[in-house]
Amino acid sequence: MNNKVKLLNRQSSLEFLPNLSNKLGPKIYIKRDDEGGRGGGGNKLRKYERIIADAINRKADTLIIAGHFQSNAARSLVGASCQLGLKSIVVCKEMISEQNPTFNQNGNALLMKLMNANIITIKPEDDFQIEMKKIADKVNKKGNKAYLIPFGGSNLLGSLGYFDCANEIIEQFKKVEGTNPDYVITPTGSGGTMAGLVAGFAIAKTSTKVIGFSVLHKDNIIENTVNKLTNEIIENIKPKTNIITDFELNTKFVGEGYGAPTKNGTKAINLLAELEGIFLCPVYTSKAMAGLIKYIEEKKIKKDEKIVFVHTGGMPLVHAYYNQYK
Ligand SMILES: *Cc1c(COP(=O)(O)O)cnc(C)c1O
Repeated sequence: MNNKVKLLNRQSSLEFLPNLSNKLGPKIYIKRDDEGGRGGGGNKLRKYERIIADAINRKADTLIIAGHFQSNAARSLVGASCQLGLKSIVVCKEMISEQNPTFNQNGNALLMKLMNANIITIKPEDDFQIEMKKIADKVNKKGNKAYLIPFGGSNLLGSLGYFDCANEIIEQFKKVEGTNPDYVITPTGSGGTMAGLVAGFAIAKTSTKVIGFSVLHKDNIIENTVNKLTNEIIENIKPKTNIITDFELNTKFVGEGYGAPTKNGTKAINLLAELEGIFLCPVYTSKAMAGLIKYIEEKKIKKDEKIVFVHTGGMPLVHAYYNQYK
C-alpha cells in the first residue's frame, strides 16, 4: 500500500521577486505551487497525492468532487484522474455568478471540457453532500466503486500535502537566505493549505509566522477550521508533544464574497504581471497579495523582514475573468 501517489515530479521552485521587493521594501520570495503537474497544476495536487492514494487503497475507481464551473479543485482532480486512469465525476453548481458572457465556458470550464470531464450540474439550492451520495450510490450499483473527495481536499490527508510544502520551503529558503522566512503568506479557502503550512513551520520549530488571507469565509469559522486541522496534523506527526503554532487569519480581504474580484486584488494582479511576469487570479492569490501589500504599507511587516508568498495556482481563472483588468 502506498500512502501517496505521485502527482508532482519535483519540488516546486522558490523564486526571488526582485522588482516587487524593490518596490515594497521587504525581500519577497514566491513558492511556485502554480507550476507543474497534470490538469494545469495548482495547490490541490499536493492534497490529492494522499487522498487519491487512500481512494486507490480502498479499491475505488471513481472519484466524486463537488465544484463549480470555475473550480480549480475540480479541474485538477479531473487532470489527476486522467493521468492515473481513474474515472471522475464533477458535481457542479453555480457558486460564482457569471462575470461575463463566456464565464461558464472559459477558464477552468474550458479545460474540464478538453479533458472530457463528466460534469453533473445540480441546482443552486441542492445540497452537495446529498447529491454526491446519490451519485455515489448509482456508481456503486453499477459495480464501480465511488470515493468522495472532501471539500477543497481539506481533510487530514489533504492538508499533509502542505506539511510537505512547509518542509520544502524551509529547505529551499535556508539555501538562499541561510535562515527561515519571517512570514509565509497564503490565500485561505477551505483551510487545508494554511493548516499544513502552520503545522509544518511549528513542528520544525521555526519562528516563521503563517498569515492566511481568507477568500471565502468572512467570519471566524475558518479560523476554527484551520486550528482544528493544524492540531490534527500535529497529533498525526508528533503525537503528545507541546508544539507552539504561530499564525494569523485575516478575513478582511474577501471583499463582497467568494469569486467577486476586489479593487485591491485587481491592482495586485496588474502589479505582479507588470513587475514580475507572474499571473495572480481574481479569486484567490490576488486577494492574498492585496493583503500582503497592505501589511507592508501599514508596517505590520517591516522592510528588513523576509517573506515567502505561496502561489497556489489558479491561472485558468485569469482567463475566465478576462474583462476585469485595467
Ligand atoms: C483551492 C485554492 C486555494 C485555497 O486553498 P485551501 O486549502 O482550500 O484553503 C487557494 N488558491 C487556489 C488557486 C486554489 O485553487
